[in-house]
Amino acid sequence: MHKAIIIGTGPAGLTAAIYLARANMNPLIIEGPEPGGQLTTTTEVENFPGFPEGIMGPDLMANMRKQAERFGAEFRTGWVNSVDTSKRPFTLQVEGQGELQAEALIISTGASAKYLGIANERENVGRGVSTCATCDGFFFRGKKIIVVGGGDSAMEEANFLTRFASEVVLVHRRAEMRASKIMQDRARENSKITWALDRTPLEVVANDMAVTGLKVRNNQTGEEEVIETNGIFVAIGHTPNTKFLGGQLETDETGYLIVKPGTSETNIPGIFACGDVQDNKYRQAITAAGSGCMAALDCEKFIEGHAVHDWSQSV
Ligand code: NAP
Repeated sequence: MHKAIIIGTGPAGLTAAIYLARANMNPLIIEGPEPGGQLTTTTEVENFPGFPEGIMGPDLMANMRKQAERFGAEFRTGWVNSVDTSKRPFTLQVEGQGELQAEALIISTGASAKYLGIANERENVGRGVSTCATCDGFFFRGKKIIVVGGGDSAMEEANFLTRFASEVVLVHRRAEMRASKIMQDRARENSKITWALDRTPLEVVANDMAVTGLKVRNNQTGEEEVIETNGIFVAIGHTPNTKFLGGQLETDETGYLIVKPGTSETNIPGIFACGDVQDNKYRQAITAAGSGCMAALDCEKFIEGHAVHDWSQSV
Protein backbone atom coordinates (compact mmCIF):
# COMPACT_ATOMS: atom_id res chain seq x y z
CA MET A 1 0.00 0.00 0.00
CA HIS A 2 1.35 3.41 -0.99
CA LYS A 3 0.29 6.90 -0.13
CA ALA A 4 0.67 8.14 -3.68
CA ILE A 5 1.52 6.53 -7.01
CA ILE A 6 2.60 8.71 -9.90
CA ILE A 7 2.18 7.20 -13.36
CA GLY A 8 4.55 8.66 -15.96
CA THR A 9 7.97 10.26 -15.78
CA GLY A 10 7.94 13.32 -18.01
CA PRO A 11 8.48 16.79 -16.51
CA ALA A 12 5.00 16.69 -14.91
CA GLY A 13 5.42 13.34 -13.16
CA LEU A 14 8.98 14.04 -12.06
CA THR A 15 8.10 17.46 -10.66
CA ALA A 16 5.21 15.89 -8.75
CA ALA A 17 7.68 13.27 -7.51
CA ILE A 18 10.13 15.92 -6.27
CA TYR A 19 7.41 17.77 -4.38
CA LEU A 20 5.80 14.67 -2.84
CA ALA A 21 9.15 13.15 -1.88
CA ARG A 22 10.25 16.39 -0.25
CA ALA A 23 6.97 16.40 1.70
CA ASN A 24 7.82 12.92 3.08
CA MET A 25 5.00 11.26 1.14
CA ASN A 26 7.28 8.47 -0.20
CA PRO A 27 5.77 8.47 -3.69
CA LEU A 28 6.10 5.45 -5.95
CA ILE A 29 6.67 6.40 -9.57
CA ILE A 30 5.84 4.00 -12.37
CA GLU A 31 8.13 4.51 -15.32
CA GLY A 32 6.72 3.36 -18.65
CA PRO A 33 8.27 2.51 -22.00
CA GLU A 34 9.51 6.07 -22.67
CA PRO A 35 11.23 7.13 -19.42
CA GLY A 36 11.60 10.88 -19.31
CA GLY A 37 8.79 11.38 -21.84
CA GLN A 38 8.83 13.40 -25.04
CA LEU A 39 11.83 15.51 -24.00
CA THR A 40 14.07 12.51 -24.32
CA THR A 41 13.35 12.51 -28.06
CA THR A 42 14.51 16.12 -28.51
CA THR A 43 18.05 17.42 -28.57
CA GLU A 44 18.77 20.78 -27.01
CA VAL A 45 16.18 22.49 -24.80
CA GLU A 46 16.74 26.24 -24.85
CA ASN A 47 13.56 27.54 -23.27
CA PHE A 48 13.52 25.77 -19.89
CA PRO A 49 14.31 28.53 -17.37
CA GLY A 50 17.52 28.15 -15.42
CA PHE A 51 19.76 26.91 -18.22
CA PRO A 52 21.17 29.98 -19.97
CA GLU A 53 23.26 27.84 -22.31
CA GLY A 54 20.45 25.33 -22.91
CA ILE A 55 20.42 21.71 -21.82
CA MET A 56 19.98 18.45 -23.70
CA GLY A 57 16.46 17.05 -23.22
CA PRO A 58 17.64 13.67 -21.88
CA ASP A 59 20.00 15.41 -19.42
CA LEU A 60 17.22 17.64 -18.14
CA MET A 61 15.05 14.61 -17.48
CA ALA A 62 17.89 12.65 -15.86
CA ASN A 63 18.51 15.62 -13.54
CA MET A 64 14.84 15.79 -12.53
CA ARG A 65 14.84 12.06 -11.80
CA LYS A 66 17.99 12.34 -9.66
CA GLN A 67 16.45 15.25 -7.79
CA ALA A 68 13.36 13.17 -6.97
CA GLU A 69 15.49 10.20 -5.89
CA ARG A 70 17.54 12.42 -3.62
CA PHE A 71 14.42 13.02 -1.53
CA GLY A 72 13.43 9.36 -1.43
CA ALA A 73 11.15 8.88 -4.44
CA GLU A 74 10.99 5.22 -5.48
CA PHE A 75 10.98 4.33 -9.19
CA ARG A 76 9.73 1.08 -10.70
CA THR A 77 9.52 0.15 -14.34
CA GLY A 78 6.26 -1.27 -15.61
CA TRP A 79 3.34 -0.89 -17.95
CA VAL A 80 0.10 -0.03 -16.17
CA ASN A 81 -2.49 -2.34 -17.68
CA SER A 82 -5.48 -1.11 -15.72
CA VAL A 83 -6.62 0.95 -12.76
CA ASP A 84 -9.66 0.28 -10.58
CA THR A 85 -10.94 3.71 -9.61
CA SER A 86 -14.24 2.50 -8.15
CA LYS A 87 -13.03 2.49 -4.54
CA ARG A 88 -10.12 3.63 -2.43
CA PRO A 89 -7.41 2.56 -2.08
CA PHE A 90 -7.13 2.54 -5.88
CA THR A 91 -5.78 -0.69 -7.34
CA LEU A 92 -3.37 -0.84 -10.28
CA GLN A 93 -2.43 -3.88 -12.32
CA VAL A 94 1.13 -3.29 -13.44
CA GLU A 95 3.06 -5.50 -15.84
CA GLY A 96 6.07 -6.91 -14.02
CA GLN A 97 4.98 -5.44 -10.66
CA GLY A 98 1.66 -7.19 -10.05
CA GLU A 99 -1.05 -5.44 -8.06
CA LEU A 100 -0.30 -2.10 -6.41
CA GLN A 101 -2.52 0.02 -4.20
CA ALA A 102 -2.51 3.70 -3.35
CA GLU A 103 -4.52 6.29 -1.46
CA ALA A 104 -4.10 8.73 -4.33
CA LEU A 105 -2.95 8.70 -7.94
CA ILE A 106 -1.26 11.27 -10.12
CA ILE A 107 -1.69 10.63 -13.84
CA SER A 108 1.14 12.17 -15.84
CA THR A 109 1.30 9.83 -18.80
CA GLY A 110 1.59 12.61 -21.37
CA ALA A 111 0.55 12.62 -24.99
CA SER A 112 2.34 11.11 -27.91
CA ALA A 113 2.84 13.09 -31.09
CA LYS A 114 1.46 11.27 -34.09
CA TYR A 115 3.89 10.40 -36.83
CA LEU A 116 3.13 9.83 -40.50
CA GLY A 117 4.43 6.28 -40.45
CA ILE A 118 6.39 6.72 -43.70
CA ALA A 119 9.81 5.36 -44.63
CA ASN A 120 12.87 7.03 -43.05
CA GLU A 121 10.73 9.13 -40.71
CA ARG A 122 11.58 7.74 -37.26
CA GLU A 123 15.26 7.31 -38.16
CA ASN A 124 15.52 11.03 -38.84
CA VAL A 125 13.84 12.38 -35.71
CA GLY A 126 16.38 14.89 -34.34
CA ARG A 127 18.13 15.06 -37.74
CA GLY A 128 15.52 17.18 -39.48
CA VAL A 129 12.24 15.49 -38.58
CA SER A 130 10.47 17.07 -35.62
CA THR A 131 7.03 17.14 -34.03
CA CYS A 132 7.64 20.32 -32.04
CA ALA A 133 8.07 23.70 -33.72
CA THR A 134 8.51 25.53 -30.41
CA CYS A 135 11.36 23.18 -29.47
CA ASP A 136 13.20 22.92 -32.76
CA GLY A 137 12.21 25.85 -34.99
CA PHE A 138 15.16 27.91 -33.88
CA PHE A 139 17.57 25.41 -35.43
CA PHE A 140 16.19 26.14 -38.91
CA ARG A 141 17.07 29.81 -39.16
CA GLY A 142 17.15 30.91 -42.81
CA LYS A 143 16.24 27.40 -44.05
CA LYS A 144 13.37 25.98 -46.04
CA ILE A 145 10.99 23.95 -43.90
CA ILE A 146 8.05 21.67 -44.58
CA VAL A 147 5.08 21.44 -42.22
CA VAL A 148 2.79 18.45 -42.72
CA GLY A 149 -0.88 18.60 -41.72
CA GLY A 150 -4.11 20.42 -42.42
CA GLY A 151 -5.40 21.15 -38.91
CA ASP A 152 -5.01 24.10 -36.56
CA SER A 153 -1.70 22.72 -35.26
CA ALA A 154 -0.20 22.72 -38.74
CA MET A 155 -1.39 26.30 -39.42
CA GLU A 156 -0.05 27.47 -36.08
CA GLU A 157 3.30 25.74 -36.51
CA ALA A 158 3.68 26.97 -40.09
CA ASN A 159 3.07 30.56 -38.99
CA PHE A 160 5.41 30.21 -36.03
CA LEU A 161 8.17 28.71 -38.15
CA THR A 162 8.16 31.66 -40.58
CA ARG A 163 9.94 33.56 -37.78
CA PHE A 164 12.99 31.45 -38.52
CA ALA A 165 12.59 29.88 -41.95
CA SER A 166 13.19 31.49 -45.32
CA GLU A 167 10.17 29.55 -46.64
CA VAL A 168 7.61 27.18 -45.13
CA VAL A 169 5.89 24.72 -47.44
CA LEU A 170 2.65 23.38 -46.05
CA VAL A 171 2.07 19.82 -47.25
CA HIS A 172 -1.40 18.36 -46.75
CA ARG A 173 -2.89 15.14 -48.09
CA ARG A 174 -6.16 16.73 -49.20
CA ALA A 175 -7.18 19.90 -51.02
CA GLU A 176 -9.45 20.97 -48.14
CA MET A 177 -8.15 21.67 -44.69
CA ARG A 178 -9.84 20.97 -41.40
CA ALA A 179 -8.20 23.96 -39.71
CA SER A 180 -10.50 26.73 -38.53
CA LYS A 181 -11.06 29.57 -41.01
CA ILE A 182 -9.26 32.13 -38.91
CA MET A 183 -6.13 29.96 -38.63
CA GLN A 184 -6.22 29.20 -42.37
CA ASP A 185 -6.64 32.88 -43.21
CA ARG A 186 -3.71 33.80 -41.01
CA ALA A 187 -1.52 31.26 -42.76
CA ARG A 188 -2.71 32.32 -46.22
CA GLU A 189 -1.88 35.93 -45.44
CA ASN A 190 1.68 34.96 -44.56
CA SER A 191 3.82 35.50 -47.66
CA LYS A 192 6.51 33.09 -46.43
CA ILE A 193 4.10 30.14 -46.54
CA THR A 194 3.62 28.25 -49.81
CA TRP A 195 1.14 25.42 -50.31
CA ALA A 196 1.53 21.87 -51.54
CA LEU A 197 -2.02 20.60 -51.09
CA ASP A 198 -3.41 17.26 -52.22
CA ARG A 199 0.03 15.71 -51.72
CA THR A 200 0.40 12.49 -49.78
CA PRO A 201 3.75 12.16 -47.95
CA LEU A 202 5.51 8.95 -49.03
CA GLU A 203 9.07 9.01 -47.72
CA VAL A 204 11.59 11.19 -45.91
CA VAL A 205 14.63 11.73 -48.12
CA ALA A 206 17.93 12.09 -46.25
CA ASN A 207 21.68 11.69 -46.68
CA ASP A 208 24.09 10.48 -43.96
CA MET A 209 23.95 13.83 -42.19
CA ALA A 210 20.47 15.25 -42.43
CA VAL A 211 17.09 15.46 -44.12
CA THR A 212 17.16 16.79 -47.68
CA GLY A 213 13.58 16.38 -48.85
CA LEU A 214 10.12 14.86 -48.61
CA LYS A 215 8.86 12.55 -51.33
CA VAL A 216 5.13 13.06 -51.95
CA ARG A 217 2.51 11.86 -54.39
CA ASN A 218 0.53 14.52 -56.20
CA ASN A 219 -2.98 13.14 -55.81
CA GLN A 220 -4.28 15.01 -58.83
CA THR A 221 -1.71 13.74 -61.33
CA GLY A 222 -0.59 10.57 -59.50
CA GLU A 223 3.03 11.63 -60.02
CA GLU A 224 5.67 11.42 -57.33
CA GLU A 225 7.93 14.36 -56.58
CA VAL A 226 10.54 15.32 -54.00
CA ILE A 227 10.09 18.66 -52.24
CA GLU A 228 13.52 19.79 -51.11
CA THR A 229 13.78 20.82 -47.47
CA ASN A 230 16.07 20.84 -44.46
CA GLY A 231 13.38 20.24 -41.89
CA ILE A 232 10.06 18.39 -41.75
CA PHE A 233 7.67 19.31 -38.96
CA VAL A 234 4.95 16.72 -38.57
CA ALA A 235 1.88 18.48 -37.13
CA ILE A 236 -0.89 15.92 -37.48
CA GLY A 237 -2.01 15.84 -33.86
CA HIS A 238 -1.28 14.17 -30.54
CA THR A 239 -2.81 11.23 -28.73
CA PRO A 240 -3.17 11.55 -24.95
CA ASN A 241 -2.04 8.36 -23.21
CA THR A 242 -5.19 7.41 -21.31
CA LYS A 243 -6.09 4.00 -22.71
CA PHE A 244 -5.17 2.17 -19.49
CA LEU A 245 -7.83 4.17 -17.64
CA GLY A 246 -10.57 2.40 -19.58
CA GLY A 247 -12.78 5.48 -19.79
CA GLN A 248 -13.19 5.78 -16.00
CA LEU A 249 -12.04 9.41 -15.92
CA GLU A 250 -13.79 12.25 -17.71
CA THR A 251 -12.15 13.36 -20.94
CA ASP A 252 -12.94 15.95 -23.58
CA GLU A 253 -13.99 14.87 -27.06
CA THR A 254 -10.35 14.47 -28.13
CA GLY A 255 -9.48 12.17 -25.21
CA TYR A 256 -7.64 14.61 -22.93
CA LEU A 257 -8.38 14.27 -19.20
CA ILE A 258 -10.53 17.05 -17.80
CA VAL A 259 -9.39 18.73 -14.60
CA LYS A 260 -11.34 21.20 -12.51
CA PRO A 261 -10.13 24.66 -13.70
CA GLY A 262 -7.25 26.00 -11.65
CA THR A 263 -6.58 22.59 -10.04
CA SER A 264 -5.29 19.15 -10.99
CA GLU A 265 -8.44 17.38 -9.74
CA THR A 266 -10.13 14.90 -12.06
CA ASN A 267 -13.76 13.88 -11.62
CA ILE A 268 -12.69 11.15 -9.17
CA PRO A 269 -11.57 12.45 -5.75
CA GLY A 270 -8.01 11.34 -5.06
CA ILE A 271 -6.99 11.12 -8.72
CA PHE A 272 -5.05 14.05 -10.10
CA ALA A 273 -3.78 14.76 -13.60
CA CYS A 274 -0.93 16.92 -14.81
CA GLY A 275 1.14 17.55 -17.91
CA ASP A 276 0.18 16.90 -21.50
CA VAL A 277 -2.38 14.20 -20.68
CA GLN A 278 -4.66 17.07 -19.57
CA ASP A 279 -3.22 19.88 -21.70
CA ASN A 280 -4.17 20.15 -25.34
CA LYS A 281 -3.00 23.74 -25.58
CA TYR A 282 0.39 24.67 -24.12
CA ARG A 283 2.25 21.33 -24.13
CA GLN A 284 5.52 22.78 -22.87
CA ALA A 285 7.99 21.19 -20.47
CA ILE A 286 7.71 24.15 -18.13
CA THR A 287 3.90 24.16 -18.10
CA ALA A 288 3.94 20.39 -17.53
CA ALA A 289 6.38 20.84 -14.64
CA GLY A 290 4.18 23.60 -13.17
CA SER A 291 1.10 21.41 -13.35
CA GLY A 292 3.08 18.57 -11.74
CA CYS A 293 3.74 20.83 -8.79
CA MET A 294 0.01 21.61 -8.56
CA ALA A 295 -0.85 17.90 -8.63
CA ALA A 296 1.60 17.13 -5.82
CA LEU A 297 0.20 19.91 -3.60
CA ASP A 298 -3.41 18.87 -4.34
CA CYS A 299 -2.52 15.23 -3.69
CA GLU A 300 -0.76 15.97 -0.41
CA LYS A 301 -3.74 17.93 0.85
CA PHE A 302 -6.12 15.17 -0.20
CA ILE A 303 -4.18 12.47 1.64
CA GLU A 304 -4.02 14.58 4.80
CA GLY A 305 -7.79 14.81 4.89
CA HIS A 306 -8.99 11.53 3.33
CA ALA A 307 -6.54 8.68 4.03
CA VAL A 308 -8.27 5.29 4.40
CA HIS A 309 -5.16 3.68 5.92
CA ASP A 310 -3.86 4.64 9.37
CA TRP A 311 -0.45 5.96 8.36
CA SER A 312 0.48 6.84 11.95
CA GLN A 313 1.00 3.07 12.56
CA SER A 314 3.30 2.71 9.53
CA VAL A 315 7.05 2.88 9.77
P1 NAP B 1 -6.36 17.65 -36.17
O1 NAP B 1 -7.34 18.75 -36.15
O2 NAP B 1 -6.81 16.26 -35.89
O3 NAP B 1 -5.68 17.69 -37.62
C1 NAP B 1 -4.76 16.72 -37.98
C2 NAP B 1 -4.38 16.97 -39.44
O4 NAP B 1 -3.35 16.04 -39.78
C3 NAP B 1 -5.53 16.75 -40.42
O5 NAP B 1 -5.48 17.74 -41.41
C4 NAP B 1 -5.25 15.38 -40.99
O6 NAP B 1 -5.62 15.22 -42.35
C5 NAP B 1 -3.75 15.30 -40.92
N1 NAP B 1 -3.31 13.92 -40.77
C6 NAP B 1 -3.65 13.04 -39.78
N2 NAP B 1 -3.03 11.86 -39.97
C7 NAP B 1 -2.28 12.00 -41.10
C8 NAP B 1 -1.43 11.13 -41.80
N3 NAP B 1 -1.18 9.87 -41.38
N4 NAP B 1 -0.84 11.58 -42.94
C9 NAP B 1 -1.06 12.85 -43.36
N5 NAP B 1 -1.85 13.74 -42.72
C10 NAP B 1 -2.46 13.31 -41.62
O7 NAP B 1 -5.15 17.89 -35.15
P2 NAP B 1 -4.51 19.28 -34.64
O8 NAP B 1 -4.29 20.20 -35.77
O9 NAP B 1 -3.35 18.88 -33.78
O10 NAP B 1 -5.63 19.89 -33.71
C11 NAP B 1 -6.14 19.13 -32.59
C12 NAP B 1 -7.13 20.00 -31.81
O11 NAP B 1 -6.44 21.09 -31.17
C13 NAP B 1 -8.18 20.65 -32.71
O12 NAP B 1 -9.40 20.68 -32.01
C14 NAP B 1 -7.66 22.03 -32.93
O13 NAP B 1 -8.68 22.97 -33.22
C15 NAP B 1 -6.98 22.33 -31.60
N6 NAP B 1 -5.90 23.30 -31.79
C16 NAP B 1 -6.21 24.63 -31.65
C17 NAP B 1 -5.26 25.59 -31.84
C18 NAP B 1 -5.60 27.02 -31.68
O14 NAP B 1 -6.75 27.35 -31.69
N7 NAP B 1 -4.65 27.89 -31.49
C19 NAP B 1 -3.94 25.22 -32.18
C20 NAP B 1 -3.65 23.87 -32.32
C21 NAP B 1 -4.64 22.91 -32.13
P3 NAP B 1 -7.17 15.08 -42.79
O15 NAP B 1 -7.75 16.44 -42.59
O16 NAP B 1 -7.08 14.65 -44.19
O17 NAP B 1 -7.75 14.06 -41.87
